[in-house]
Amino acid sequence: AVDVEAHSDVLIIGGGQAALSSAYFLHRFGLGDRYQMLDHAPGPGGAWQFRWPTLTLATANRVHDLPGWGIVEALGLDCDQLPAATAVPEYFGRYEEKFGLNVHRPVHVRAVRREGEGFGVELADGRNLTTNVIINATGTWDRPFIPHIPGAADFRGRQLHTHDYTSPAEFAGKRVLVVGAGISAIQLLIEIAREAPGVETFWCSRREPVFSTEPFTPEQGREAVARVERRVRAGLPPTSVVSVTGLALTPAIAAAQRDGILSWRPMFTRITETGVCWDCGPAGGEHLDLDVIFWNTGFRSSLDHLAPLRLRAPGGGITMTGRLATVVEADPRIQLIGYGPSASTIGANRAGREAARVAADLLEVASH
Ligand code: FAD
Repeated sequence: AVDVEAHSDVLIIGGGQAALSSAYFLHRFGLGDRYQMLDHAPGPGGAWQFRWPTLTLATANRVHDLPGWGIVEALGLDCDQLPAATAVPEYFGRYEEKFGLNVHRPVHVRAVRREGEGFGVELADGRNLTTNVIINATGTWDRPFIPHIPGAADFRGRQLHTHDYTSPAEFAGKRVLVVGAGISAIQLLIEIAREAPGVETFWCSRREPVFSTEPFTPEQGREAVARVERRVRAGLPPTSVVSVTGLALTPAIAAAQRDGILSWRPMFTRITETGVCWDCGPAGGEHLDLDVIFWNTGFRSSLDHLAPLRLRAPGGGITMTGRLATVVEADPRIQLIGYGPSASTIGANRAGREAARVAADLLEVASH
């Protein structure tokens, strides 16, 4: 089994951008020997190591550098054209080494419980650890979300989620429906339509996205983040900050519009054995035959291991407080970062710093 410490004053769960940022600042604040980080991924990179191979840093939304050392400096080259799934893990790995971060992997945290003055932490291999302060940075990648639509279990074709996409080639000759209105949905729809030989694509989502020809302003970005922050402070489930940063009418999207790839339909109402339908019933409706339903319908926060702590508020979310809404109101020794308003690469950086600051405060209080 991977070596872990039986006790650490601070436990970081996760190993992506948010976790690395908090570890970097714990070192800066003099707590470099009082924490450990447990990550169940096989290697560095957080969720980026699992992104589909055609996603490059240029086609990603915008991946911010970790604090203190940028990707170009770390890799020694301009990496825009590199696949995110190789460049980011390489960068994060070098970063962990440079700053001597105390990461243990692969280690899966199965459950966290209150125990004595702190917490008992159960690992998947049955070992139990203790800690006083939890910085949870487990992201969303492990919780792909597919909305419930009647008939989904009857479909005899293939259903997959963004999480499981590998390349357009696997859709050659198929009739594929892409569901979703976010950046991933649109990029992958275009990629499949253009590159899978003999494919026929269709596209639908709950709302038709509006493409903006105006550049997305920093004020709009701040307002989008503030909206999500208001939700988590009120105990509501977060919505995605990455998805609300607007869809820019890029040259690739404009060309796809011209070529008829982006012909949008509203959401279907039922799934059948052979496809989907809109308002099917005795009075008619419309049926579309399909081989594949490709759900690009987002992710939820990966927080199952925190379930024994019963943190959920009546609104269905976890009520957050603190300067950047990183602190769980019901138990301020727990912080969630990369969650809600900080679920972006820039947000994760800032939340990591704040979490380290709060942890330093908590430990001082505990030791005086
Ligand atoms: P992650 O990178 O997901 O890291 C979470 C880590 O926790 C993983 O290493 C995982 O192995 C580990 N973990 C999870 N559960 C456990 C457990 N129980 N025990 C131990 N370890 C565990 N943001 C941008 O700013 N720009 C973009 O272009 C962009 N594109 C995106 C594209 C997609 C498809 C998605 C899904 C998200 C995108 N985001 C983007 C959001 C961004 O990836 C994250 O918000 C950001 O990287 C912060 O990462 P994180 O550290 O919170 O989570």
